Amino acid sequence: MNICRNFKKINKNTYKKFIDKRNLSMNYKFKNIQFADRMIFIPHCMRNAKVCKAIDKGAFYICVQCKGCKISDITTLAKKLGYKETYIMKGGRAIENILKTQKPKAIIGIACYFEGAQAIKMTDKAKLLTQFIPLTKDGCADTDIDLEETKKIIALEK
Ligand code: SF4
Repeated sequence: MNICRNFKKINKNTYKKFIDKRNLSMNYKFKNIQFADRMIFIPHCMRNAKVCKAIDKGAFYICVQCKGCKISDITTLAKKLGYKETYIMKGGRAIENILKTQKPKAIIGIACYFEGAQAIKMTDKAKLLTQFIPLTKDGCADTDIDLEETKKIIALEK
């Protein structure tokens, strides 16, 4: 029996339950926030580092929609709908600063379940409405998401 793998699985299920419950409970209010007051946070491990031309802003990147990865579709849709900004984060620490200066009312966060559960604690502190999108493939590089599901959440409205 692989104890480590089982331990990770138990934790993942716990985080998943917690996050699913939170997404559902905030879904209605989230829909009522206009797109201009929403932001998206994406982990940098989703970039296609081999071709990426995103602008390096220090703690985060801004996608230039080169179509090298799924972030291009996310950024294109967010811009079309009028989202406040889409950030590709190098780490979680800078998020708090962005929230303080940009003052969004709602955010979409993409991350693994563990990071998502940690981020929800932070957004609770900031009294923000959140929708969390789990990575379908996590890790340190070449991570992935369900793009169609992600687009549905980005476009959520009343
Ligand atoms: S679509 Fe954006 S994030 Fe993806 S590789 Fe191109 S510039 Fe980088």
